[in-house]
Amino acid sequence: KQIGVPNEIYPLENRVAMAPDSVKLFRRLGFRVLVESGAGKGANFPDEAYAKEGAIISSTEEVWNSEIVLKVRKPDYHPVLGRHEDTLLENTRLLVSYVYPASNADWLKDLAKRYPKLTYMAMDCVPRITKAQKLDSLSSMGSIAGYRAVVEAFHYYKKTPKPMVTAAGKIPPTKVLVIGAGVAGLAAIGYSRSLGCIVSAMDTRSAAKSDAESMGAHFVEVPIKEEGAVVGGYAKVMSENYQKAQYDVTKKTAAKCDIVITTALIPGRKAPILMDAGIVKSMKYGSVIVDLAAEQGGNVEGTRAGEAVFTDNGVTIVGFTDLTSRMAPQSSELYTNNLYNLLDDLLNTHKFKVNLDDEIIGPMVVIHEGEYSYQPPKAVPA
Ligand code: NAD
Repeated sequence: KQIGVPNEIYPLENRVAMAPDSVKLFRRLGFRVLVESGAGKGANFPDEAYAKEGAIISSTEEVWNSEIVLKVRKPDYHPVLGRHEDTLLENTRLLVSYVYPASNADWLKDLAKRYPKLTYMAMDCVPRITKAQKLDSLSSMGSIAGYRAVVEAFHYYKKTPKPMVTAAGKIPPTKVLVIGAGVAGLAAIGYSRSLGCIVSAMDTRSAAKSDAESMGAHFVEVPIKEEGAVVGGYAKVMSENYQKAQYDVTKKTAAKCDIVITTALIPGRKAPILMDAGIVKSMKYGSVIVDLAAEQGGNVEGTRAGEAVFTDNGVTIVGFTDLTSRMAPQSSELYTNNLYNLLDDLLNTHKFKVNLDDEIIGPMVVIHEGEYSYQPPKAVPA
């Protein structure tokens, strides 16, 4: 079988679905690997690095003409070809990429109708269970985004993170609040702590408390008992009463902090707004918010996806949606490993039969041989 790896055409996307060092692993599985010329450029991987490992450097049309196409982003309009990439899937049997099926259902249903032999697997639908961890790119990318959020925060916050005692006076430590202590949030806590910051954290899942504390954060409690996790570990939409209480606690805590990093997501939904303009206004002049949920609508009123906004009261709201792309070499390597583990599993455990009943593979399949098959995760209480 042949794997094609196209260049990512989405604006600011520097990642690539195969890092050169891994080409040999895919070849060892028996695949012929075609990589589009220039596909690795944004991640500092030149064509020669791929060719050295035995990949065939090819044109756009050639890579898409593969049985298996591996991508980071879902197909989009290709400005150079002058047509949508989804018109190039005639010979593709398996497409793998991020899909966000809840926001792209109509497009997926149309794609399924047009390609009766196509199976499409979504890397954003890997179940968040221990057994699936080696395929879990939401986690691998989350760790990188959490780190980069801290880097971006300090780029805009014009002070040092660590306390200092100098002959000219004392500098206090930077106070950081992380809202959403999942994978990205925990990484942000860890890096902020390693820089010497004082870190607080909030989350609606009770399990997040010990996770955040083990990374050295103080866990800020909301004075209403309500479990935020549903089966599978996902977060749910909280009751109105909880939201009100959370709002008050967030306002009080954010006002004392210098940096807030928000990461709160609810699978299949728009991100919850956890900081309105009133909370942003109550923060200190010069403080910084990094909203990692910007692409899903943002956790902060005033976030603009892809931009850093300087508000009237001197708060910078960073809504960059390309944090993992800004670390493209390493994020591409980790994403490639996730894809390799998926193909290894499909080939060696499932003999290339996509089994919809499998607890890991099943939820990832958004199109199965021309049938739209996405099932949103069920919100069953934990
Ligand atoms: P995510 O990116 O979907 O969301 C980030 C965090 O925001 C989560 O911790 C969530 O609880 C929190 N959140 C949602 N609404 C909130 C609100 N109103 N206020 C504050 N916080 C809010 O999360 P994730 O990091 O991708 O993790 C999702 C789940 O999957 C978690 O339970 C995590 O432990 C679990 N997980 C398990 C594994 C595993 O293999 N066992 C691996 C990765 C993640």
